[in-house]
Amino acid sequence: MHLAKLINKPESKDTMTEAVMVQRVNNKITPRIDINVGHACNIRCEFCYYIKTYNNKLSEDLTTEEIKRLLVQARKRGKFMVDFTGGEPTMRPDLPELVRFAGDIGFSRICTITNGLMMSRKEYLQKLKDAGLNDILFSVHGHNEDVHDNTTKVKGSFKLVMQAIKNAQELGMYYRMNGVINNRNYKDTEKLFELFASLKPYVANFILYNPVAEITDEENLKKKGVTYTEAAPYIMNAIKEYKGQFRKINIRFMPYCTLPGYEQHISTMRQIQYDSDEWDYQFHVRMKRGVPIQLGATMAGMVIGMRNPYFRQADIHTKLREAINEVRIIQDRVKSPKCKACRFEPICDGFPRTYVKARGDSEINPVPGEKIYDPAHFLKINNTDGTYFNDTR
Ligand code: SF4
Repeated sequence: MHLAKLINKPESKDTMTEAVMVQRVNNKITPRIDINVGHACNIRCEFCYYIKTYNNKLSEDLTTEEIKRLLVQARKRGKFMVDFTGGEPTMRPDLPELVRFAGDIGFSRICTITNGLMMSRKEYLQKLKDAGLNDILFSVHGHNEDVHDNTTKVKGSFKLVMQAIKNAQELGMYYRMNGVINNRNYKDTEKLFELFASLKPYVANFILYNPVAEITDEENLKKKGVTYTEAAPYIMNAIKEYKGQFRKINIRFMPYCTLPGYEQHISTMRQIQYDSDEWDYQFHVRMKRGVPIQLGATMAGMVIGMRNPYFRQADIHTKLREAINEVRIIQDRVKSPKCKACRFEPICDGFPRTYVKARGDSEINPVPGEKIYDPAHFLKINNTDGTYFNDTR
């Protein structure tokens, strides 16, 4: 189907019940924020979202004082979990100082997303732990040295991240893991799950390499991407085999109809606002672009969202929380007219726009059944320990 025939506007006449409205208004917003502390990195992942930004120096790294100011702003607004992202945050000599500062002003969950190279030195990880680091998100993109090192373009990087995870275990630290599924490794998805299960992270995230947010480069999509149809059987087999071994498995941003029977593991843009392992996108925009852009995007979302009947029917509190995501979804995603018949339509983001442009919409398959309206519906049943919100301080 031609892209012009695809729509973003669900025209359903469905009406949410009072009970669903209450569920939506009671959903808690994640207390976690992200701060990108710089684009420098000591590996070169072939699918990196930020490589162009870094190579072309499109963005200046924040100074120590600027990062501290953002942390203070977020604390004043009640946020108490932070993920330092990059690039590679451990490239910054002031990372221990930033971690300590975050703890001193009241952040109780302080995380660094990392490729693990620096943390393979136990004394460095000990220093971060002493400063207050109590959460790590390790990125591992292959089940063995060959796949991971060929992805990161740094020989020895697999051994180093494995050593870093061992260090975190020995120091009794809480950690989560991320893996990107792409055309190099998708046939080995089960082996990647097996490796993750053996390392016992608190949460396992798998991200299908596809055009979302910053990754909208069609050329890279063709080189590194894998279609939903190709990857799905491997992902479903892996979940079936290993799901008992994780507290939570997240498969990021796949449309629900591409993983039939495994929808509870999918994270969508509509859902992540309510996931305490994810970032508050209101703050994401505020931190990256400033308050005027955040307010402008919220206003735009309030207007754009009115095209969506489920947004239109929500109370003002829910609308304000979800408005920015309406903007992100309309920028990046499309649905097909056939989506109107799908039970997941109220909570689904649709397919990535770039993906449909490159590959068409034949993979969009509406699922019949009773409609689901609460964006946090699957989040509430995904965690095996029964808690959907990890807000222990
Ligand atoms: S709404 Fe459309 S894209 Fe989303 S799961 Fe249903 S058929 Fe797939």
